Amino acid sequence: MPPPSDLRVIIVGAGLAGLIMAIMLEKAGIDYHILEQASRLRPLGTSISLHPVILDIVDQLGLLDEMVAMSKPLRGITVLSSKGRKVGRIDTRSKKQKRGHQAMVMSRPDLHELLLSKIPAQKLTTGMRVLGMTETQSGVLVTCADESTFFGHLVVGADGAYSATRRIMYSDLKMQGLLPEADKTPLYVDKQCVVGMTCPLDPVKYPVLLDSGCEVKVLLGKDQHTSMWILPLQGNRLAWCVGGPDPQMMMQDTGSGRSSPSNHSHGSGRQSPPSSIGRGRQSPTSSGRNSPQDWYPETAVEICEDVRNFKCPYGGSVMDIIDATPKGLVSKVLLEEKMCCTWYHGRIVLIGDACHKIVPFFGQGASQAILDAACLVNMLYDLPSRSSADLTAIFKSYVEQRSGPARVASDSSREFADLIYDQGFKADVARSIVLRFTPMWLLRMITGTTTGIRPGLTFLPPPTGTGKLL
Ligand SMILES: Cc1cc2nc3c(=O)[nH]c(=O)nc-3n(C[C@H](O)[C@H](O)[C@H](O)COP(=O)(O)OP(=O)(O)OC[C@H]3O[C@@H](n4cnc5c(N)ncnc54)[C@H](O)[C@@H]3O)c2cc1C
Repeated sequence: MPPPSDLRVIIVGAGLAGLIMAIMLEKAGIDYHILEQASRLRPLGTSISLHPVILDIVDQLGLLDEMVAMSKPLRGITVLSSKGRKVGRIDTRSKKQKRGHQAMVMSRPDLHELLLSKIPAQKLTTGMRVLGMTETQSGVLVTCADESTFFGHLVVGADGAYSATRRIMYSDLKMQGLLPEADKTPLYVDKQCVVGMTCPLDPVKYPVLLDSGCEVKVLLGKDQHTSMWILPLQGNRLAWCVGGPDPQMMMQDTGSGRSSPSNHSHGSGRQSPPSSIGRGRQSPTSSGRNSPQDWYPETAVEICEDVRNFKCPYGGSVMDIIDATPKGLVSKVLLEEKMCCTWYHGRIVLIGDACHKIVPFFGQGASQAILDAACLVNMLYDLPSRSSADLTAIFKSYVEQRSGPARVASDSSREFADLIYDQGFKADVARSIVLRFTPMWLLRMITGTTTGIRPGLTFLPPPTGTGKLL
């Protein structure tokens, strides 16, 4: 059944979630408009991986060949000590040898640019910071910071971890006494990273760049809480990430400021990391923590000093790699988490990081955002009418389908972050056991699925089945 005529969707945010949603709506013949707060879309971030679980969707959207061309298949993860001693390796292909069951690793800026190139210019307005929403009988009037207004029959909040859409929706629910307690807590954060992507490097100096696959090298700092990841990307570039516990959070941990894991929505009951950072440096997050600016380059560099003496697995110094990174491609990242209970209200619904902020390991954030968008657009295509009741019915069923898998993705990403970053004897033992007997949750997280089920877009012809990752 085709969607109701003249259905119009307002998407807030032109991140990966908003852009992929727009591409799907375009294919479904549903009218939409994207409002993005940034006046210029700066392609930021480092590597991102997309799970095989989304391959049928990108195939149906006609994006698969371009994505395969810009990515490398994930082959494995080698964990080394900071001195270069091998701690262990996870073969990410071991349980899923079937064609197409490998994650694709690519540059996030490249992916963002690819998706952006598919959006007709007149469907995206930049410099539009959404501030307010007023629901009427027939739709929602969205107001931006410059007082311009946009009308849609529904609003999709794809505006990331610090979603204004969520804030607006939650303040309304709170006033009505309908907001669950769990949704009143702020995002949880106890780790931070600096990420970057080098300019193209010389493959003679770094022969690893010539490999067709991607082997991630993780360098573990000893007793200093900082680790480094390095991985090769297409285009002779290396992506890297230097990270560890957030010093401010560690200091707060001894005081009163920290939200305890039991407050925390993922509810895994894990223990706090050891609160012993005490190296006297200022937290780079002290003025801007929990700010949407966290991915931006300006505050990024200090933490990199911690890895100056790490042994580079490709020869030379790890600082050579950091130094070969253009300033604009370095970003500071807080590894926030939040699994929201409430994903919709009235004619407003959330997707991506706006409703489930997952620590960014192995592209769970991006893959889950794509799955959200696919599920929602499938339902919008079959929407019987533009009435509020019909929208509520599909939003309810969207959340029923998506919240469980998103929670699994969030929990397994957190387990993996703890596995890599936690320090001390117990953490060392746990790490060596896990690396030797790779548990199912870890493989499922890295490869995206153990069942082989790949959701699709029900309104498009079936995938061509060329999920050809080598
Ligand atoms: C700059 C950046 C770099 C990243 N780099 C990596 C990476 O290297 N590796 C990784 O695994 N993950 C990375 N991520 C996270 C990953 O992209 C997301 O987890 C995933 O793609 C889902 O994102 P999203 O589209 O839901 O939210 P986001 O990617 O956060 O996009 C939200 C968008 O909404 C816009 N927005 C916010 N508020 C408003 C408002 N009030 N009005 C209008 N627009 C608004 C934002 O400007 C942004 O463009 C990065 C995210 C960002 C923002």
